[in-house]
Amino acid sequence: MRISEIDILLESDETLKSAQNRITENKKAIHAQENQLNAISSELDDLKIKQKTSENSMYSGKIQSPKELQDLQNEIDFLKKRIASINNSELEIMIQIDASEQELANAENDFVRIKSETATTASMLKGEKSKLDLEIAQALQQRQATVNSITSENLAIYQRLYQSKRGVVVSKIIDDACSACGTHIRPAEKQASNNPTQMAYCSSCGRILSSG
Ligand SMILES: [Zn+2]
Repeated sequence: MRISEIDILLESDETLKSAQNRITENKKAIHAQENQLNAISSELDDLKIKQKTSENSMYSGKIQSPKELQDLQNEIDFLKKRIASINNSELEIMIQIDASEQELANAENDFVRIKSETATTASMLKGEKSKLDLEIAQALQQRQATVNSITSENLAIYQRLYQSKRGVVVSKIIDDACSACGTHIRPAEKQASNNPTQMAYCSSCGRILSSG
């Protein structure tokens, strides 16, 4: 039924929930990426300090041993490579954060849009529901009026028959015949006599037929 469908639609907020989830997921992702970026930046700072220290030693003139100088040079080369590689990672993460922030902005826009659409739909559905409620109430009222009118109409028929048939108004169907006048009752007439909303009459004597 449409009304229960409407109730289900009004209660479901899956689209809004999934938009909300997207916002939460993106915020989590950005948080993780920012932690990663902080870790990389501090590692980069350490490496740069080490590089600076090694270079200072190298050019201080205090170290004379060729072996020591070579070791220092090797360390500086290693640090430079490591710094270059970490610089790349830092850049990659910054790009990822940019993308996540863009995605977060999209998710937030979607959320606002869906929220407003949901409110519009809800008010339309509520309008439709109250219209249906009204229609049902009117239909019930109309049905009651019809039932009432049938009753008073039947009452009039009964009263008329009562006078013309000298008190025997209702005739039972016995062995497919009107028990008052003996006329054969066809199956369709017998069936009609079972219908509680309308009355069946004997085609010969005009009495109200009763199947019971
Ligand atoms: Zn009859």
